[in-house]
Amino acid sequence: MTASLIDGIAIAAKVRSEVAVGVRRLLKDSGITPGLAVVLVGDDVASQTYVRAKQKACVEVGIESFGHVLPSDATQNEIVGLVRDLNADSRVHGILVQLPLPKHIDKQKVIETIAPSKDVDGFHPMNVGNLSSGYESSVPCTPLGCYLLIKKIEPNLSGKKAVVVGRSNLNGKPMTQLLLKENCTVTITHSRTKDLKAECLEADIIVAAVGIPELVKGDWVKKDAIVIDVGINKTDKGIVGDVAFDEVSKVAKALTPVPGGVGPMTIACLLKNTIECFKKSL
Ligand code: NAP
Repeated sequence: MTASLIDGIAIAAKVRSEVAVGVRRLLKDSGITPGLAVVLVGDDVASQTYVRAKQKACVEVGIESFGHVLPSDATQNEIVGLVRDLNADSRVHGILVQLPLPKHIDKQKVIETIAPSKDVDGFHPMNVGNLSSGYESSVPCTPLGCYLLIKKIEPNLSGKKAVVVGRSNLNGKPMTQLLLKENCTVTITHSRTKDLKAECLEADIIVAAVGIPELVKGDWVKKDAIVIDVGINKTDKGIVGDVAFDEVSKVAKALTPVPGGVGPMTIACLLKNTIECFKKSL
């Protein structure tokens, strides 16, 4: 193995402790405790686990967590009504609606109801637009976490060639914007990309957010590339990423493991985003 492991657990712990210090300082200065509302609709087990982890992380850093659980047959109006109430609640500085929502719910309408200033996930069109225009915005937590990991390894990204694999609104697109802001030359690839291996071989930085186990192979990666693996795939071998770890670790300069890479950064960045929303409310 030549690649250095990018330790997401350790880096996320540092982000969390910085957030905890920030919360204590803000509380001392303003007398107000930052609050995050988490809305869960339905009984999806994975979503319940994510929500529990997010709420626990809030408590650990001193952010007040307001949990709201609605049944899986909740109506669009009920969910939108709850989000409007949370927009108006001065104890709530950030609002997170756990996705996916039940099929009968118009997800976009719910996201658009969240006040952009409380949009800790950065999914509101105003935040998406601001990010792509290079203005200040909430940034989706997972790509923000990837960005922080990349910057730990390579503080100056100017002129680097980056390939983002996957173009989801959640990961690939915001990741592309963050790398562009850092003056990378970015190629965003997807399921119709003609020669993904050739694209990846050009990259100084690869971010894989696809959902296909071990798609990115060792011979797709340039020597000394930084490789960030967003994928979380359940397989017979256990949880694996979108990158063939054993092969790629022989070539890359630095690589995130799965688990223990990007995953822990996602929650840490949610806490960070909550504090940013809180600061904007003062
Ligand atoms: P998604 O919405 O399903 O998007 C997947 C993207 O991959 C799409 O843009 C798709 O292209 C592209 N794609 C599919 N097959 C491809 C192929 N053969 N070659 C190149 N691109 C291909 O997924 P997502 O929500 O971004 O999630 C991606 C992965 O990250 C999943 O494993 C998910 O579990 C994981 N994840 C991890 C975290 C974390 O905290 N670590 C957070 C969120 C997600 P088209 O657009 O052409 O369909």
